[in-house]
Amino acid sequence: MSGLHPEYWESDSLKGHKKEIYMSYRCQGCNRVQPNNTKPETVVLEKRLREYVNRVKKVQEDERVIEIEVKSSGWEIVREKKVCPGCFKNLSLSLA
Ligand SMILES: [Zn+2]
Repeated sequence: MSGLHPEYWESDSLKGHKKEIYMSYRCQGCNRVQPNNTKPETVVLEKRLREYVNRVKKVQEDERVIEIEVKSSGWEIVREKKVCPGCFKNLSLSLA
């Protein structure tokens, strides 16, 4: 870790000077086009556990190189939608 995350430096007096810009988008919940600077929220509707198999080279004691399989797993997003903060609130209430 090197230093503090910039957000730690944001005081009330600085708010408004440092603002993230969001492009307008169509909410996939209410289907309304959102004005610029509305933060889109991503709702993950479905995800699945995926197993990956990586082939890794390994040097044996007799110095021969063999390939072994190393398994790892991770979540893969299957379906997601981008919604406005209002819909996000409703969705998270209905999911709770
Ligand atoms: Zn919406």
